[in-house]
Amino acid sequence: CGIVGYVGHRPALDVVLDGLRRLEYRGYDSAGVALLDGAGGLAVERAAGALSNLEKRIAEDDGQRFAGTSGMGHTRWATHGAPTDRNAHPHRDAAGRVAVVHNGIIENFAALRAELEAAGVEMASETDSETAAHLVAAAFAEGETAGDLTASVCAVARRLEGAFTLVVTHADRPDEIVAARRSSPLVVGVGEGEHFVASDVAAFIEHTRDAVELGQDQVVTISRDGYRVSDFTGVEVAAKPFTVDWDL
Ligand code: GLU
Repeated sequence: CGIVGYVGHRPALDVVLDGLRRLEYRGYDSAGVALLDGAGGLAVERAAGALSNLEKRIAEDDGQRFAGTSGMGHTRWATHGAPTDRNAHPHRDAAGRVAVVHNGIIENFAALRAELEAAGVEMASETDSETAAHLVAAAFAEGETAGDLTASVCAVARRLEGAFTLVVTHADRPDEIVAARRSSPLVVGVGEGEHFVASDVAAFIEHTRDAVELGQDQVVTISRDGYRVSDFTGVEVAAKPFTVDWDL
């Protein structure tokens, strides 16, 4: 339902939780975050119910796991699988190296799930979204797209049917976040030494008003210093920058 991703210099947890709070008006049934610590760690926390449930759980943690400056968050409006902790996003691959948040519906998830299960993958949730985490992990691990997170997300996006905004991180690539969209909104926020991705500009408007809207079947990779937009075959496309001119 609501999505925010961040790569920058501020504590990502604050940016992500503030962003999710600004998207609360859309309604949701659960929430979660994934934070990269820059030292190879990927910390995930999720909770059914209000954002305050998630915040409480994070506060009970030692805190250090969530100290990174890149990460993402999601508020879920369940379509596949009940609104429980384990169906809340982000979803991970079996090794816990990839985290994915998703808005929309992956129409061909049953076939993808069957394919993954036949390959020995054990699903941890009832969602359509989790399939994307396993597929990205596999694409990043081997074959033509190995080691290239953007190319891995493109390869997976080409296989998905339905509507999606996907935001993906990999613990091996802590300085970048990749997001893709089809028939579901995705905007980039452009700051100084920081970039955002979100389902709605409201998520980052308190930090920057310079935004870029992604077109149909496009993917963006953000880092501290820049962003790059391409189509699902990896061909770079001209982005459409705009300035958000509403009052807060
Ligand atoms: N279909 C996904 C799920 O049920 C995403 C729902 C959403 O857009 O929040 O988990």
